[in-house]
Amino acid sequence: MHVIVIGGGIGGLCLANGLKRAGVSVAVYERDITPTNRNQGYRIHINTEGSSALHDCLSPEVWERFVATAGDPGAGMAFMTHRLDLLTLIEEDLFTGGRTAPEEGHHAVSRITLRNLLLADISEIVNFDRKFTGYETKDGRITARFADGSTATGDVLIGADGSNSRVRAQLLPQAGYLDTGALAVGGKLYLTPETKAWLPERIPAGMNVIFGQPGRSMFTAVFKRRTYDAGEGDYVLWSLVARRDAYPEKRDDLRETVTQMIEGWHPALVRMVADSDPGDVEMFDFRTSAPVKPWPTGPVTLLGDAIHAMLPTGGEGGNTALRDAQLLTAKLAAVGRGQAELLTALGEYERAMIEYGFAASKRALSNARMGISASRINRAFARAFFRTCQAVPPLKRRIFGERWSSD
Ligand SMILES: Cc1cc2nc3c(=O)[nH]c(=O)nc-3n(C[C@H](O)[C@H](O)[C@H](O)COP(=O)(O)OP(=O)(O)OC[C@H]3O[C@@H](n4cnc5c(N)ncnc54)[C@H](O)[C@@H]3O)c2cc1C
Repeated sequence: MHVIVIGGGIGGLCLANGLKRAGVSVAVYERDITPTNRNQGYRIHINTEGSSALHDCLSPEVWERFVATAGDPGAGMAFMTHRLDLLTLIEEDLFTGGRTAPEEGHHAVSRITLRNLLLADISEIVNFDRKFTGYETKDGRITARFADGSTATGDVLIGADGSNSRVRAQLLPQAGYLDTGALAVGGKLYLTPETKAWLPERIPAGMNVIFGQPGRSMFTAVFKRRTYDAGEGDYVLWSLVARRDAYPEKRDDLRETVTQMIEGWHPALVRMVADSDPGDVEMFDFRTSAPVKPWPTGPVTLLGDAIHAMLPTGGEGGNTALRDAQLLTAKLAAVGRGQAELLTALGEYERAMIEYGFAASKRALSNARMGISASRINRAFARAFFRTCQAVPPLKRRIFGERWSSD
Protein backbone atom coordinates (compact mmCIF):
# COMPACT_ATOMS: atom_id res chain seq x y z
CA MET A 1 0.00 0.00 0.00
CA HIS A 2 1.32 3.41 -0.97
CA VAL A 3 -0.22 6.55 0.56
CA ILE A 4 -0.17 9.95 -1.15
CA VAL A 5 -0.57 12.95 1.16
CA ILE A 6 -1.49 16.28 -0.45
CA GLY A 7 -0.33 19.16 1.76
CA GLY A 8 2.70 19.37 4.03
CA GLY A 9 1.10 21.39 6.82
CA ILE A 10 0.73 20.40 10.44
CA GLY A 11 -1.65 17.48 9.85
CA GLY A 12 -0.15 16.08 6.63
CA LEU A 13 3.42 16.03 7.99
CA CYS A 14 2.36 14.49 11.31
CA LEU A 15 0.54 11.74 9.40
CA ALA A 16 3.58 11.11 7.19
CA ASN A 17 5.79 10.75 10.29
CA GLY A 18 3.37 8.29 11.87
CA LEU A 19 3.01 6.21 8.70
CA LYS A 20 6.72 6.09 8.01
CA ARG A 21 7.39 4.91 11.57
CA ALA A 22 4.68 2.26 11.14
CA GLY A 23 6.43 0.97 7.98
CA VAL A 24 3.74 2.22 5.56
CA SER A 25 5.00 3.63 2.25
CA VAL A 26 4.08 7.34 2.04
CA ALA A 27 4.96 10.50 0.09
CA VAL A 28 3.87 14.11 0.69
CA TYR A 29 3.30 16.73 -2.02
CA GLU A 30 3.39 20.38 -0.91
CA ARG A 31 2.84 23.50 -3.03
CA ASP A 32 5.24 25.71 -1.04
CA ILE A 33 8.50 26.09 -2.92
CA THR A 34 10.64 25.44 0.17
CA PRO A 35 9.86 24.62 3.84
CA THR A 36 10.45 28.22 4.93
CA ASN A 37 9.58 30.40 1.91
CA ARG A 38 6.21 31.41 3.40
CA ASN A 39 5.80 33.46 6.54
CA GLN A 40 4.07 30.94 8.79
CA GLY A 41 2.59 33.49 11.17
CA TYR A 42 2.32 33.24 14.88
CA ARG A 43 2.82 30.69 17.60
CA ILE A 44 0.37 27.87 17.86
CA HIS A 45 -1.02 26.42 21.06
CA ILE A 46 -0.66 22.64 21.30
CA ASN A 47 -3.12 21.14 23.75
CA THR A 48 -3.37 17.70 25.36
CA GLU A 49 -4.71 16.11 22.16
CA GLY A 50 -2.05 17.66 19.95
CA SER A 51 0.72 16.65 22.37
CA SER A 52 -0.51 13.07 22.45
CA ALA A 53 -0.61 12.90 18.64
CA LEU A 54 2.88 14.37 18.23
CA HIS A 55 4.23 12.06 20.90
CA ASP A 56 2.79 9.02 19.08
CA CYS A 57 3.75 10.01 15.53
CA LEU A 58 7.24 11.56 15.99
CA SER A 59 10.38 9.61 16.78
CA PRO A 60 11.42 9.86 20.46
CA GLU A 61 14.39 12.10 19.50
CA VAL A 62 12.24 14.59 17.56
CA TRP A 63 9.57 14.56 20.27
CA GLU A 64 12.22 15.51 22.83
CA ARG A 65 13.39 18.35 20.60
CA PHE A 66 9.79 19.51 20.29
CA VAL A 67 9.43 19.72 24.08
CA ALA A 68 12.81 21.43 24.50
CA THR A 69 12.24 24.06 21.80
CA ALA A 70 8.54 24.71 22.51
CA GLY A 71 7.47 27.70 24.52
CA ASP A 72 5.73 27.85 27.81
CA PRO A 73 2.14 28.96 27.13
CA GLY A 74 1.96 30.54 30.58
CA ALA A 75 -0.67 29.96 33.18
CA GLY A 76 -4.38 29.70 32.50
CA MET A 77 -6.79 31.92 30.66
CA ALA A 78 -8.24 35.16 32.02
CA PHE A 79 -11.42 36.85 30.85
CA MET A 80 -11.27 40.62 31.30
CA THR A 81 -13.02 43.82 30.38
CA HIS A 82 -11.41 46.25 27.94
CA ARG A 83 -10.25 48.23 31.01
CA LEU A 84 -8.47 45.03 32.14
CA ASP A 85 -10.76 44.38 35.10
CA LEU A 86 -10.69 40.66 35.79
CA LEU A 87 -13.95 38.79 35.16
CA THR A 88 -12.56 35.32 35.84
CA LEU A 89 -9.29 33.40 35.68
CA ILE A 90 -9.39 29.79 34.50
CA GLU A 91 -6.39 28.28 36.25
CA GLU A 92 -3.90 26.04 34.46
CA ASP A 93 -4.98 22.82 36.15
CA LEU A 94 -8.49 23.27 34.74
CA PHE A 95 -7.01 23.15 31.23
CA THR A 96 -4.83 20.15 31.80
CA GLY A 97 -6.84 18.27 34.42
CA GLY A 98 -3.70 18.45 36.57
CA ARG A 99 -1.70 16.35 34.08
CA THR A 100 1.91 17.47 33.93
CA ALA A 101 3.70 14.94 31.65
CA PRO A 102 4.86 16.71 28.46
CA GLU A 103 2.92 14.24 26.25
CA GLU A 104 -0.29 15.26 28.02
CA GLY A 105 0.55 18.90 28.59
CA HIS A 106 0.23 22.20 26.77
CA HIS A 107 2.95 23.82 24.69
CA ALA A 108 3.29 26.96 22.58
CA VAL A 109 5.27 26.42 19.41
CA SER A 110 6.46 28.57 16.56
CA ARG A 111 4.97 27.28 13.29
CA ILE A 112 8.34 27.36 11.52
CA THR A 113 9.97 25.38 14.34
CA LEU A 114 7.11 22.88 14.26
CA ARG A 115 7.39 22.45 10.50
CA ASN A 116 11.14 21.91 10.73
CA LEU A 117 10.65 19.29 13.45
CA LEU A 118 7.92 17.57 11.46
CA LEU A 119 10.33 17.43 8.49
CA ALA A 120 13.36 16.23 10.45
CA ASP A 121 12.85 12.48 9.94
CA ILE A 122 10.95 12.53 6.64
CA SER A 123 12.48 15.18 4.39
CA GLU A 124 13.28 12.56 1.69
CA ILE A 125 9.57 11.76 1.22
CA VAL A 126 8.32 15.36 1.16
CA ASN A 127 8.16 16.91 -2.32
CA PHE A 128 8.03 20.72 -2.31
CA ASP A 129 6.89 22.92 -5.19
CA ARG A 130 4.20 20.42 -6.22
CA LYS A 131 0.82 22.11 -6.45
CA PHE A 132 -1.96 19.54 -6.62
CA THR A 133 -4.61 20.22 -9.28
CA GLY A 134 -6.81 17.08 -9.32
CA TYR A 135 -6.96 13.30 -9.15
CA GLU A 136 -8.23 10.33 -11.17
CA THR A 137 -9.17 6.85 -10.01
CA LYS A 138 -8.45 3.92 -12.30
CA ASP A 139 -8.33 0.16 -11.59
CA GLY A 140 -8.45 0.84 -7.84
CA ARG A 141 -5.43 3.18 -7.94
CA ILE A 142 -5.38 6.95 -7.62
CA THR A 143 -3.29 9.30 -9.68
CA ALA A 144 -2.70 12.85 -8.42
CA ARG A 145 -1.91 15.57 -10.94
CA PHE A 146 0.28 18.59 -10.25
CA ALA A 147 0.52 22.05 -11.81
CA ASP A 148 3.99 21.30 -13.24
CA GLY A 149 2.52 18.44 -15.31
CA SER A 150 3.88 15.67 -13.10
CA THR A 151 1.77 12.90 -11.53
CA ALA A 152 1.97 10.49 -8.58
CA THR A 153 0.11 7.20 -8.21
CA GLY A 154 -0.86 5.36 -5.02
CA ASP A 155 -3.55 3.27 -3.31
CA VAL A 156 -4.83 5.94 -0.92
CA LEU A 157 -4.91 9.73 -1.28
CA ILE A 158 -5.23 11.97 1.78
CA GLY A 159 -6.24 15.59 1.27
CA ALA A 160 -4.39 17.50 3.99
CA ASP A 161 -4.29 20.64 1.90
CA GLY A 162 -5.84 23.12 4.32
CA SER A 163 -8.97 25.22 4.34
CA ASN A 164 -9.19 25.88 0.59
CA SER A 165 -8.65 22.19 -0.15
CA ARG A 166 -8.58 21.23 -3.82
CA VAL A 167 -8.99 17.60 -2.81
CA ARG A 168 -12.20 18.42 -0.94
CA ALA A 169 -13.49 20.51 -3.88
CA GLN A 170 -13.28 17.39 -6.05
CA LEU A 171 -14.37 14.79 -3.46
CA LEU A 172 -17.16 16.77 -1.78
CA PRO A 173 -18.15 19.61 -4.11
CA GLN A 174 -21.25 20.21 -1.96
CA ALA A 175 -19.19 21.07 1.17
CA GLY A 176 -19.26 24.79 1.91
CA TYR A 177 -18.35 27.41 4.48
CA LEU A 178 -20.27 29.42 7.05
CA ASP A 179 -19.47 33.12 7.15
CA THR A 180 -19.43 34.54 10.68
CA GLY A 181 -19.58 38.11 9.43
CA ALA A 182 -16.37 38.86 11.34
CA LEU A 183 -12.75 39.66 10.49
CA ALA A 184 -9.70 39.34 12.70
CA VAL A 185 -6.46 41.30 12.77
CA GLY A 186 -3.45 39.87 14.58
CA GLY A 187 -0.02 41.16 15.51
CA LYS A 188 2.75 40.66 18.02
CA LEU A 189 4.66 42.73 20.54
CA TYR A 190 8.13 41.47 21.46
CA LEU A 191 8.88 41.07 25.16
CA THR A 192 11.91 43.18 26.01
CA PRO A 193 12.92 44.73 29.36
CA GLU A 194 11.26 47.96 28.11
CA THR A 195 7.93 46.44 27.04
CA LYS A 196 7.81 44.24 30.16
CA ALA A 197 8.11 47.39 32.26
CA TRP A 198 4.78 48.83 31.08
CA LEU A 199 2.78 45.72 30.15
CA PRO A 200 0.30 44.80 32.92
CA GLU A 201 1.45 41.60 34.63
CA ARG A 202 -1.43 39.43 33.40
CA ILE A 203 -0.81 40.07 29.68
CA PRO A 204 2.50 38.15 29.41
CA ALA A 205 1.39 35.65 32.09
CA GLY A 206 -0.94 33.46 29.97
CA MET A 207 -3.90 33.59 27.58
CA ASN A 208 -6.48 36.36 27.86
CA VAL A 209 -9.86 37.11 26.33
CA ILE A 210 -10.75 40.79 26.52
CA PHE A 211 -14.30 41.97 25.89
CA GLY A 212 -14.54 45.41 24.32
CA GLN A 213 -17.67 47.23 23.22
CA PRO A 214 -20.36 44.82 21.88
CA GLY A 215 -19.16 43.24 18.64
CA ARG A 216 -15.43 43.49 19.47
CA SER A 217 -13.09 41.36 21.52
CA MET A 218 -9.38 40.69 21.72
CA PHE A 219 -7.38 37.53 22.39
CA THR A 220 -3.82 37.63 23.70
CA ALA A 221 -1.33 34.81 24.27
CA VAL A 222 2.31 34.66 25.22
CA PHE A 223 5.18 32.79 23.62
CA LYS A 224 8.11 32.31 26.00
CA ARG A 225 10.79 29.95 24.79
CA ARG A 226 12.01 27.25 27.13
CA THR A 227 15.42 27.30 25.47
CA TYR A 228 17.03 30.06 23.47
CA ASP A 229 19.03 28.16 20.90
CA ALA A 230 17.61 29.83 17.81
CA GLY A 231 14.98 32.02 16.25
CA GLU A 232 13.06 35.01 17.37
CA GLY A 233 12.52 36.27 20.91
CA ASP A 234 9.54 36.03 23.24
CA TYR A 235 6.40 37.91 22.34
CA VAL A 236 2.77 38.57 23.15
CA LEU A 237 0.43 37.77 20.30
CA TRP A 238 -2.79 39.80 20.05
CA SER A 239 -5.76 39.40 17.82
CA LEU A 240 -8.75 41.72 17.55
CA VAL A 241 -11.95 40.10 16.29
CA ALA A 242 -14.79 42.33 15.22
CA ARG A 243 -17.82 42.32 13.01
CA ARG A 244 -16.97 43.27 9.45
CA ASP A 245 -19.06 46.46 9.65
CA ALA A 246 -17.04 47.68 12.65
CA TYR A 247 -13.93 48.08 10.45
CA PRO A 248 -13.44 51.32 8.55
CA GLU A 249 -13.64 50.94 4.78
CA LYS A 250 -10.16 52.34 4.29
CA ARG A 251 -7.74 50.16 6.19
CA ASP A 252 -4.37 50.33 4.45
CA ASP A 253 -2.56 50.58 7.77
CA LEU A 254 -3.95 47.70 9.82
CA ARG A 255 -2.07 48.60 12.99
CA GLU A 256 -3.53 52.11 12.87
CA THR A 257 -6.99 50.66 12.13
CA VAL A 258 -6.88 48.48 15.26
CA THR A 259 -5.48 51.31 17.38
CA GLN A 260 -8.49 53.42 16.39
CA MET A 261 -10.94 50.58 16.95
CA ILE A 262 -9.75 50.08 20.54
CA GLU A 263 -9.72 53.74 21.47
CA GLY A 264 -10.81 54.09 25.10
CA TRP A 265 -9.53 50.60 26.04
CA HIS A 266 -6.85 50.26 28.73
CA PRO A 267 -3.86 52.42 27.63
CA ALA A 268 -1.51 49.43 27.81
CA LEU A 269 -3.64 47.53 25.25
CA VAL A 270 -3.58 50.52 22.91
CA ARG A 271 0.20 50.81 23.34
CA MET A 272 0.63 47.04 22.81
CA VAL A 273 -0.96 47.39 19.36
CA ALA A 274 0.67 50.73 18.52
CA ASP A 275 4.18 49.45 19.38
CA SER A 276 3.84 46.15 17.42
CA ASP A 277 5.92 45.75 14.28
CA PRO A 278 3.64 46.75 11.36
CA GLY A 279 5.23 43.99 9.25
CA ASP A 280 3.73 41.37 11.57
CA VAL A 281 0.18 42.71 11.48
CA GLU A 282 -2.15 40.60 9.33
CA MET A 283 -5.87 40.41 8.66
CA PHE A 284 -7.61 37.08 8.28
CA ASP A 285 -11.09 35.91 7.40
CA PHE A 286 -13.24 34.45 10.09
CA ARG A 287 -14.95 31.59 8.29
CA THR A 288 -15.55 27.98 9.19
CA SER A 289 -16.43 24.82 7.26
CA ALA A 290 -20.13 23.97 7.24
CA PRO A 291 -20.72 20.55 8.83
CA VAL A 292 -20.81 17.68 6.31
CA LYS A 293 -22.60 14.38 6.59
CA PRO A 294 -20.59 11.13 6.18
CA TRP A 295 -20.04 10.33 2.52
CA PRO A 296 -19.56 6.89 0.85
CA THR A 297 -16.04 5.83 1.83
CA GLY A 298 -13.52 5.46 -0.98
CA PRO A 299 -9.72 5.50 -1.23
CA VAL A 300 -9.62 9.33 -1.08
CA THR A 301 -10.19 11.03 2.26
CA LEU A 302 -9.54 14.29 4.10
CA LEU A 303 -7.77 15.47 7.22
CA GLY A 304 -7.51 18.69 9.27
CA ASP A 305 -8.63 22.05 7.88
CA ALA A 306 -9.32 20.39 4.52
CA ILE A 307 -12.49 18.96 6.04
CA HIS A 308 -13.20 20.83 9.29
CA ALA A 309 -11.57 24.26 9.05
CA MET A 310 -12.57 26.03 12.23
CA LEU A 311 -12.29 29.46 13.78
CA PRO A 312 -9.11 30.05 15.82
CA THR A 313 -11.28 30.88 18.88
CA GLY A 314 -10.40 27.96 21.11
CA GLY A 315 -7.10 27.04 19.42
CA GLU A 316 -8.32 23.63 18.31
CA GLY A 317 -7.85 23.62 14.51
CA GLY A 318 -4.24 22.43 14.45
CA ASN A 319 -4.77 20.15 17.40
CA THR A 320 -7.70 18.49 15.66
CA ALA A 321 -5.59 18.08 12.50
CA LEU A 322 -2.97 16.35 14.68
CA ARG A 323 -5.64 14.13 16.25
CA ASP A 324 -6.81 13.16 12.73
CA ALA A 325 -3.22 12.28 11.81
CA GLN A 326 -2.85 10.12 14.93
CA LEU A 327 -6.10 8.24 14.29
CA LEU A 328 -5.47 7.79 10.57
CA THR A 329 -1.95 6.53 11.29
CA ALA A 330 -3.37 3.86 13.60
CA LYS A 331 -6.02 2.82 11.05
CA LEU A 332 -3.64 2.67 8.06
CA ALA A 333 -0.93 0.94 10.10
CA ALA A 334 -3.45 -1.83 10.89
CA VAL A 335 -4.15 -2.15 7.14
CA GLY A 336 -0.40 -2.30 6.49
CA ARG A 337 -0.03 -5.14 9.00
CA GLY A 338 -2.87 -7.02 7.29
CA GLN A 339 -5.13 -6.68 10.35
CA ALA A 340 -7.80 -4.50 8.71
CA GLU A 341 -9.38 -3.93 5.32
CA LEU A 342 -8.61 -0.55 3.73
CA LEU A 343 -12.13 0.83 3.16
CA THR A 344 -13.35 -0.41 6.56
CA ALA A 345 -10.41 1.33 8.26
CA LEU A 346 -10.95 4.58 6.31
CA GLY A 347 -14.70 4.48 7.05
CA GLU A 348 -14.02 4.13 10.79
CA TYR A 349 -11.60 7.04 10.63
CA GLU A 350 -14.08 9.23 8.75
CA ARG A 351 -16.99 8.58 11.11
CA ALA A 352 -14.96 9.36 14.24
CA MET A 353 -13.18 12.36 12.67
CA ILE A 354 -16.43 13.95 11.41
CA GLU A 355 -17.93 13.68 14.89
CA TYR A 356 -15.09 15.10 16.99
CA GLY A 357 -13.91 17.50 14.24
CA PHE A 358 -17.24 19.25 13.80
CA ALA A 359 -17.85 19.21 17.58
CA ALA A 360 -14.60 21.19 17.97
CA SER A 361 -15.65 23.48 15.14
CA LYS A 362 -19.00 24.11 16.90
CA ARG A 363 -17.21 25.01 20.15
CA ALA A 364 -14.98 27.47 18.28
CA LEU A 365 -18.03 29.05 16.65
CA SER A 366 -19.85 29.44 19.96
CA ASN A 367 -16.72 31.05 21.51
CA ALA A 368 -16.58 33.41 18.54
CA ARG A 369 -20.27 34.34 18.82
CA MET A 370 -19.72 35.36 22.43
CA GLY A 371 -16.83 37.59 21.36
CA ILE A 372 -18.50 39.25 18.37
CA SER A 373 -22.11 39.49 19.44
CA ALA A 374 -23.28 43.05 18.84
CA SER A 375 -26.01 42.70 21.44
CA ARG A 376 -25.51 44.69 24.66
CA ILE A 377 -27.64 42.16 26.51
CA ASN A 378 -25.43 39.26 25.38
CA ARG A 379 -22.31 41.18 26.37
CA ALA A 380 -23.76 42.01 29.81
CA PHE A 381 -24.81 38.39 30.20
CA ALA A 382 -21.29 37.14 29.32
CA ARG A 383 -19.72 39.47 31.88
CA ALA A 384 -22.18 38.43 34.57
CA PHE A 385 -21.58 34.76 33.73
CA PHE A 386 -17.78 35.04 34.09
CA ARG A 387 -18.07 37.12 37.28
CA THR A 388 -20.34 34.48 38.78
CA CYS A 389 -17.83 31.76 37.83
CA GLN A 390 -15.11 33.74 39.60
CA ALA A 391 -17.24 34.20 42.70
CA VAL A 392 -18.27 30.52 42.86
CA PRO A 393 -15.12 28.38 42.31
CA PRO A 394 -16.95 25.00 42.33
CA LEU A 395 -19.16 26.29 39.48
CA LYS A 396 -16.05 27.43 37.59
CA ARG A 397 -14.39 24.04 38.08
CA ARG A 398 -17.51 22.27 36.93
CA ILE A 399 -18.01 24.35 33.76
CA PHE A 400 -14.41 24.82 32.62
CA GLY A 401 -12.96 21.61 34.03
CA GLU A 402 -15.47 19.54 32.10
CA ARG A 403 -15.03 21.49 28.94
CA TRP A 404 -11.25 21.43 28.66
CA SER A 405 -9.98 18.40 30.48
CA SER A 406 -12.64 15.76 30.17
CA ASP A 407 -10.77 13.37 27.87
C1 LIG B 1 -4.35 33.27 13.61
C2 LIG B 1 -4.53 31.81 13.80
C3 LIG B 1 -4.15 31.23 15.00
C4 LIG B 1 -4.33 29.86 15.21
N1 LIG B 1 -3.95 29.33 16.40
C5 LIG B 1 -4.11 28.02 16.62
C6 LIG B 1 -3.71 27.44 17.86
O1 LIG B 1 -3.21 28.11 18.76
N2 LIG B 1 -3.91 26.09 18.03
C7 LIG B 1 -4.46 25.32 17.05
O2 LIG B 1 -4.63 24.11 17.25
N3 LIG B 1 -4.83 25.84 15.85
C8 LIG B 1 -4.67 27.16 15.61
N4 LIG B 1 -5.03 27.68 14.42
C9 LIG B 1 -5.57 26.78 13.35
C10 LIG B 1 -4.44 26.01 12.68
O3 LIG B 1 -3.50 26.91 12.12
C11 LIG B 1 -5.00 25.13 11.54
O4 LIG B 1 -6.14 24.46 11.99
C12 LIG B 1 -3.94 24.11 11.10
O5 LIG B 1 -2.88 24.77 10.47
C13 LIG B 1 -4.56 23.08 10.18
O6 LIG B 1 -3.57 22.17 9.77
P1 LIG B 1 -3.69 21.44 8.38
O7 LIG B 1 -2.50 20.56 8.27
O8 LIG B 1 -5.04 20.86 8.23
O9 LIG B 1 -3.62 22.60 7.32
P2 LIG B 1 -2.42 23.63 7.03
O10 LIG B 1 -1.54 23.76 8.19
O11 LIG B 1 -3.09 24.85 6.47
O12 LIG B 1 -1.60 22.93 5.88
C14 LIG B 1 -2.09 22.77 4.59
C15 LIG B 1 -0.89 22.64 3.67
O13 LIG B 1 -1.36 22.28 2.36
C16 LIG B 1 -0.64 23.02 1.40
N5 LIG B 1 -1.48 23.10 0.20
C17 LIG B 1 -2.61 23.82 0.04
N6 LIG B 1 -3.09 23.64 -1.22
C18 LIG B 1 -2.22 22.79 -1.84
C19 LIG B 1 -2.19 22.24 -3.16
N7 LIG B 1 -3.12 22.54 -4.08
N8 LIG B 1 -1.18 21.39 -3.46
C20 LIG B 1 -0.22 21.08 -2.53
N9 LIG B 1 -0.20 21.60 -1.27
C21 LIG B 1 -1.21 22.43 -0.94
C22 LIG B 1 -0.42 24.37 2.08
O14 LIG B 1 0.66 25.08 1.48
C23 LIG B 1 -0.13 23.95 3.51
O15 LIG B 1 1.24 23.72 3.74
C24 LIG B 1 -4.88 29.05 14.18
C25 LIG B 1 -5.25 29.63 12.96
C26 LIG B 1 -5.08 30.99 12.77
C27 LIG B 1 -5.50 31.60 11.44
